[in-house]
Amino acid sequence: MKVCVIGSGGREHALAAALSRTADVVVTPGNPGIPGSVSRPPEEVEADLFVIGPETPLVDGLADRLRAAGDLVFGPGVDGARLEGSKAWMKEVLREAGVPTAAYGTFTDLEPALAFLRTLPGPWVVKTDGLAAGKGVLVTDSLDSATADVAAKLSGAAFGDAGRRVVIEEWLDGPELSLLCVCDGRRAVALAPAQDFKRLSDGDTGPNTGGMGAYSPVPFVGPDVVAEVLERMVQPTLAALTARGIDYRGALYAGIMLTAAGPKMLEYNVRFGDPEAQAVFPRYSSDLAALLAEAAAGCIGTEPQFDDRAAVTVVLATEGYPLDPRSGDVIEGLEKADALPDVTVFRAGVARRGDQWVTAGGRVLDVTGLGTDVAAARATAYDAVSAISWPGMQYRTDIADTVHFPS
Ligand code: AMP
Repeated sequence: MKVCVIGSGGREHALAAALSRTADVVVTPGNPGIPGSVSRPPEEVEADLFVIGPETPLVDGLADRLRAAGDLVFGPGVDGARLEGSKAWMKEVLREAGVPTAAYGTFTDLEPALAFLRTLPGPWVVKTDGLAAGKGVLVTDSLDSATADVAAKLSGAAFGDAGRRVVIEEWLDGPELSLLCVCDGRRAVALAPAQDFKRLSDGDTGPNTGGMGAYSPVPFVGPDVVAEVLERMVQPTLAALTARGIDYRGALYAGIMLTAAGPKMLEYNVRFGDPEAQAVFPRYSSDLAALLAEAAAGCIGTEPQFDDRAAVTVVLATEGYPLDPRSGDVIEGLEKADALPDVTVFRAGVARRGDQWVTAGGRVLDVTGLGTDVAAARATAYDAVSAISWPGMQYRTDIADTVHFPS
């Protein structure tokens, strides 16, 4: 089977690596660090299956265009991608499906938004309705900050049109779970549970980012939790989409808060999580190309299987990330890290300069280590991280540290 992966980051590198165990893979546009990268647009690539990585082309209708041309596509159309393209719409679908989620209000005008904000006890949660590259959510202990954020979002100053509608939510407490699912329109199967780290700095401080690390499996999430999320949350969501005439074939990422009152859905993404994919796919042991092709064709038959070993992924980012990332720094030690056992260094944002690798974008490399358990995988990943350097390189030192596990 020939598979075309669409996208250019670490997630697409991880997808391509897992798919290439059983398929011929090209990646468009990819990047100079991802084998099989081609510069042709997807419409000009011949493939048996197209796997769309990021949300933006999905929201822009790439899956619909490829399907209209007769291609087999893993990724929802514009209708299903709205789950991520509009948080207000997603919350409506959740309500319709009876999926437990945070209480909320949706606003386009300042006064009612602020009035609703003042009815909540805090901390306060303010989200852009539209896509904001994972950076449109503010969670704060300060009512003043929340008030200023609502004003900045609604005025368009903070996130342009994406913020002219906001969703204000009840704050939920608990550990988070990322459950990446594969959907065939009617049925969803879950991949191994993962957890990600969204804040820039150790101890979950600093600004929100696209993600600074991840690990899988999650020691405190058993098969019972996964089954509950699938049965009470993901399947009812698929049914609600079907009732709206939406045939959802693609990845569905459930971002869940494990509250004292049970799992609650924080959000759906319409693609695999990045960097969760870099921790989940190295553990995937069955035929991923077959699974995604079956989902794209509307009939999942393959059950996902995973290596018993754990994986920990540490993201290496440039100076200034996420606000003002610097590019063009020479990366040292990459070959040394590549050569370590049980290590894969996924290329998220790299470029070639002569015979050197240089940084190109905020998140540059995703270093995944495998080990018999999370602690061993963590040690392997951080050993590899210590081999790599460039001026201003930043990363978290507490990814998958047990301090994050509930006692
Ligand atoms: P989202 O993009 O909606 O997943 O939000 C990004 C991050 O903000 C989540 O991973 C949570 O850490 C946090 N968050 C979002 N919604 C809430 C909420 N209602 N209560 C507490 N934290 C939240």
